[in-house]
Amino acid sequence: MISFQNVSKRYPGGVHALNDISFELGRGEMAFLTGRSGAGKSTLLKLIALLERPSRGQVLFEGRNVGKLARRQIPYLRRRIGVIFQDHRMLSDKRVFDNVALPLMIAGVSFGDIKRRVRAALDKVGLLDKEKMYPPMLSGGEQQRVGIARAIIARPPVLLADEPTGNLDPALSAELMDTFLQLNQSGVTVLIASHDLELIKRLGQRVLVLDDGRIVDDVGRRGGPGSG
Ligand code: ADP
Ligand code: ADP
Repeated sequence: MISFQNVSKRYPGGVHALNDISFELGRGEMAFLTGRSGAGKSTLLKLIALLERPSRGQVLFEGRNVGKLARRQIPYLRRRIGVIFQDHRMLSDKRVFDNVALPLMIAGVSFGDIKRRVRAALDKVGLLDKEKMYPPMLSGGEQQRVGIARAIIARPPVLLADEPTGNLDPALSAELMDTFLQLNQSGVTVLIASHDLELIKRLGQRVLVLDDGRIVDDVGRRGGPGSG
């Protein structure tokens, strides 16, 4: 599904954020990306989501080199990847329903379909009863789950999350991870950057460890090469 082949990323100004990274994430797999602050986690996710470009090497998405995509193909790829940020970037003057509906409204989906799919997505994250609320009225964990609903509304086959539990207490973090596990069980490929090692360990998923822009460990991969 996602493949990095000898990928390096150097930012203007000279910072080497990633150094010769190679790994594969199979279709339907779930993995965590961990490592201290500055290790390169966000950069790696941004390369997948086409928010940054590699300086060297190739990033393949569904077998296609994303660095070689024509400009007009980029929106198509972006729709196939749901991204969840730590600061969930909600519009505070729009109701939960409208925040979640936004990607579909942009895509020109009919209102009947939007309504059905927003409700399905809110139901999935346990927030069906909050659709009329405004984000500032919700707890941090609820707002984060609205962010997930918005990220999955277009049914992307891949979900990327950057420190999604960053502002949450342990109980809410565990709840949020359950939501990711459920999405993964329904077939979504999931990659989550997190430094919450305790939480990650308990979930028993694959863990990629980044240190100073290199993958120094890759543990718990199910199936191994060729499984997805
Ligand atoms: P992490 O998510 O693990 O904290 P990042 O990918 O954010 O790591 O950062 C990796 C390195 O790249 C750090 O040294 C960081 O300062 C640097 N970096 C990140 N973004 C930029 C940028 N836009 N311009 C220059 N340097 C950057
Ligand atoms: P529908 O019944 O609306 O046609 P689907 O058959 O496509 O929906 O999906 C069944 C359920 O799985 C729905 O609740 C939908 O929201 C959910 N779903 C499908 N794909 C994804 C995805 N990539 N991420 C999250 N949820 C998804």
